Amino acid sequence: MFVGHYSVAFACRTERDKIPLWVLFVAVQFLDYIWATLVLLGVEKLRVIKGFTAGSMLDSYFHPYSHSLITAILWSAIAAIVYKPLCSWLGYAYTKSAALIVGLAVFSHWILDLIAHPRDLAIYDNTWKVGFGLWNYRDPEFALEVSLLIGGIVLYLVRNTMPAIRKGAVIAFGLVLVVVQIGDTYVPRTPLTAKATAMGVWVFYTLFVLIAFAVEKIGARTKHNTP
Ligand SMILES: [Zn+2]
Repeated sequence: MFVGHYSVAFACRTERDKIPLWVLFVAVQFLDYIWATLVLLGVEKLRVIKGFTAGSMLDSYFHPYSHSLITAILWSAIAAIVYKPLCSWLGYAYTKSAALIVGLAVFSHWILDLIAHPRDLAIYDNTWKVGFGLWNYRDPEFALEVSLLIGGIVLYLVRNTMPAIRKGAVIAFGLVLVVVQIGDTYVPRTPLTAKATAMGVWVFYTLFVLIAFAVEKIGARTKHNTP
């Protein structure tokens, strides 16, 4: 699962909890950030094999710290706890329900991965591996990613008040993500090394976080102090 994860980020942004979209973009990919970091450090292992599944070249045969069910729950709890100091540091409004939503957004990653991944997600440590393997079916997997994303974006647009220009930017961002998914699913390419793949994850995911941050600044009313 790739851009489908961002559907949860869009869907979790409401006027009530006011979790910044960029925070949710980090949250829904938090497990992959940990995974990419651990792959770069040589702790978790990955093979990139052309045609490993129809929709992905990733054979994540050892990722017990980032992607087992038990550690996914742990990382989600940590994210929920860290959200409070993050808010006070950055001056964001904090609510307990927002912290809970951030934690659930982190955990949503594991659930969506469970649908797409072949049986490589451990329940704990590196054993009892599960995964429904939708990646073996390229078109249905692609359709699921894109329809989830569209659903998330529609919820975002309906549940948040914003100027028309930002609505346009959000839709354009959604289109960019769909194009990225088309490239990932359908454009043939030579497999990168595991470390280059992990670097790519860091670069692309962070680029999307920055865009999510910028999008929510578009058309923001600046407060002027009139004498
Ligand atoms: Zn993942």
